Amino acid sequence: MDDFKKINDTYGHPIGDELLVAICQKVKAILKEMDFERRYAFARLAGDEFILTITDCNKDEAVQISRRIGQVLIDPIPVSSCEVKVGVSLGLAYSSDKNVSFKELLSQADSAMRCAKEQGKGRFKVFDDSLASAIFLKKSIAENLKNALINHEFSLRFMPIFSCSDLKPNRVEVLIRCDSDAMQGVTPDVFIPIAEEFGIIQNIDVWVVETTFATMQTHFITHSRPCPVFCINISAIELLNSSFPKQLRTLMQKYQIPSESVELEITETSLIEAGETSLRILKELKKLGVKLALDDFGTGYTAFNQLLAYPVDCLKIDRTFVADIDSEHASHLPMVNAIMSIAQSYNLVTVGEGVETQGQLDYLRSVSCNYVQGYFLAKPLLLDDYLLLLNEYP
Ligand code: C2E
Ligand code: CA
Ligand code: CA
Repeated sequence: MDDFKKINDTYGHPIGDELLVAICQKVKAILKEMDFERRYAFARLAGDEFILTITDCNKDEAVQISRRIGQVLIDPIPVSSCEVKVGVSLGLAYSSDKNVSFKELLSQADSAMRCAKEQGKGRFKVFDDSLASAIFLKKSIAENLKNALINHEFSLRFMPIFSCSDLKPNRVEVLIRCDSDAMQGVTPDVFIPIAEEFGIIQNIDVWVVETTFATMQTHFITHSRPCPVFCINISAIELLNSSFPKQLRTLMQKYQIPSESVELEITETSLIEAGETSLRILKELKKLGVKLALDDFGTGYTAFNQLLAYPVDCLKIDRTFVADIDSEHASHLPMVNAIMSIAQSYNLVTVGEGVETQGQLDYLRSVSCNYVQGYFLAKPLLLDDYLLLLNEYP
């Protein structure tokens, strides 16, 4: 089921329970109507996950049943006091080979279902060769990442962020790279989600934080040189990791990092799913004195009241909106303006991301955006080049 948690949150658990029962009845009715009544087992696997196994059924029939379930469950379902619209994502795995174990089939169906969800929910996906090779690729990337951690094959780039008022680089975003031979050409856009899926991200996040702090100590703090604000991306997963604030505090103490020189960037989409745990962790992070930024702002759907509840300091305007500023169509311009006015009403700092032209820079400055970053001003740099750049701004 898609978004079952939201349904529970909106309508309450009793309605959620009723809905589960109603859905089971609908599925059973479909199987009866299609004459599979004596050839199936149907079970609830987890809170919002169901499994249907069918024997003596050819592939076309399995596809038909899956489609039918998807179609029937699109319609709103009447429960005691209202009608509730649910959606389902379906994954199908099929085998005529008796040597394929149940466990294997289940894992294939699970992968197909995840793929359906990733492609936008409410879909149906059959496990096939292309999915098998995509999973194989992911697994080998995950393996490469584990090896890279062991072999110290990660490095950092530093992307200067400029103040709009005087165009000085008084902030910097830290970006990870994986340098192992096997990972040439694989960017963090690709490997970070895989690290999240395979449970490697926490080690990576801690490595990034520690390496950044060590760099700050070596090049700024021990020389009493003014330290820019280092903006560190952390995975949304840390917002469910109760030990993260403590880890961060320990590292800040170890490297004597002033909290005002640290900002953590989390993606806006991760906050939509934020429950009480994440809010508690966000508050603990804030107590350490570090700042919090919402990354890729505008691509998620944070409600205004939620925005007020989150202890954030900064909004980073996603580069898809910035890119449109001086294009002929400029369809995203109202978005940039809307984000600026939200930020101004809530007293939040703004950073325009992905500035690639003079026109984009001029516009963001004209609407009083606080900071900008992008290839037009500077690319992500090796540490030495970043330090050289800073020398140009005494
Ligand atoms: P992000 O946080 O939105 O980072 C900005 C990305 O946009 C960077 O890509 C940067 O190189 C790119 N970018 C910045 N300005 C421009 C521009 O003007 N034009 C274009 N075309 N691109 C621009 P990168 O380094 O490949 O990072 C991609 C994503 O990977 C990041 O998106 C972030 O979500 C994630 N990531 C990167 N480093 C880390 C890290 O250390 N930890 C975690 N958890 N995630 C990271
Ligand atoms: Ca970022
Ligand atoms: Ca971003």
